[in-house]
Amino acid sequence: MPAADNPSGSTVTFNTVYTDLKCPQCQSPIDSGVGFRVGALENRSYRLGDALNWEGANCRPSQRPQDGGLRTVGYFNCDNPKCPTWNDCFPEVQCALIVITDNRIAEVSVYNGVSGEGKFEILEGSEIG
Ligand SMILES: [Zn+2]
Repeated sequence: MPAADNPSGSTVTFNTVYTDLKCPQCQSPIDSGVGFRVGALENRSYRLGDALNWEGANCRPSQRPQDGGLRTVGYFNCDNPKCPTWNDCFPEVQCALIVITDNRIAEVSVYNGVSGEGKFEILEGSEIG
């Protein structure tokens, strides 16, 4: 589970995608997945290529995009306690960019853009370089 509590301290429901993403610092596989908040928010586990589920009371955004595509920031932490991202037994939260195409999880990559931690931004196309 990535550390993805929101700053207010309330519980955040999110989905998790498991991919072959590697830690940019130590190249360890990210076995604990990437937390993200699009589709029906229901603590569902996805894999690359899976279709997003929109059947649920709590969807983000509230409606499935017309063209089935969007980009969002997700969060993960390295699972290797010897990684430089670990401090005092806690891993640093890192960002990933999740690309949804035709309502399927097309791509998950390390995201180096500016992102407020825990905000799970949904990015418009113009915000990606
Ligand atoms: Zn690492």
